[in-house]
Amino acid sequence: MDEIQKELLDIVTQVRTHLEYQKALGVTVVESPAVPAPAASVVPQSVIKPIKASEPVPQKPEKKEVVAIAQAPRHLSGTLAAVREELGECTRCKLSKGRNAIVFGEGSPEAKLVFIGEGPGKEEDQQGRPFVGAAGQLLTDIIVKGMQLKREDVYICNIVKCRPPENRNPEPDEIEACEPFLIKQLQAIRPQFIVALGNVAVKTLLKTKTGITSLRGTWQTYQGIPLMPTFHPAYLLRTPGDKKLVWEDIKKVMAEMEKIKKG
Ligand code: URA
Repeated sequence: MDEIQKELLDIVTQVRTHLEYQKALGVTVVESPAVPAPAASVVPQSVIKPIKASEPVPQKPEKKEVVAIAQAPRHLSGTLAAVREELGECTRCKLSKGRNAIVFGEGSPEAKLVFIGEGPGKEEDQQGRPFVGAAGQLLTDIIVKGMQLKREDVYICNIVKCRPPENRNPEPDEIEACEPFLIKQLQAIRPQFIVALGNVAVKTLLKTKTGITSLRGTWQTYQGIPLMPTFHPAYLLRTPGDKKLVWEDIKKVMAEMEKIKKG
């Protein structure tokens, strides 16, 4: 592949990710660029159809669009409390039928770092709090003992907010129903960094089929925010030998956070 082809592929990937992001936010149409019709146009403006998000992408997307989280002015994003209120006693997907409690997420609304897992397990469903079971204890150790941060200083949440039965992976329709709320949480917090824990988080956020084993430890970007993929703590409970890899990934995050702190 030559340089131009690579660049084109990169542009197409970025546009596709952006459209999927807008779709997840509920934007189903992309207005066609505002090209003024020539005075003698035989096509009345009203006949110019909006382009569906799934149709070929216009070459020059409109400037007036949903901007990346990292660039969005803070006043445009709601508060976490407003997002929680909008979520309500959610019945948007079938996971609501089996849950005990919605696990919205917890931590600082101004967190510089957000950890995103997959979905609540049994203990989380009981308590209504993310990462409080055995895997949660390991994540807490990473944050507190490893990063020397307090759990309350970061924000912890999941791709889906209700426990999947028998801790199975969340299904695509469940992820689709829940994703707008995760996006709004991130818009409210506007973290400097995201750590995506495990395959479900990474594949959902990055809209990729590439697995965590290939992506872990490599910086990615989610809506302008640097994102570090790493193994899920539940995987580490089964494969403790890989803890050192997660620690390497976390050290990369710490190094970047330190750079920003020092200015
Ligand atoms: N696993 C997750 O992905 N999230 C939790 O909150 C707990 C376990």
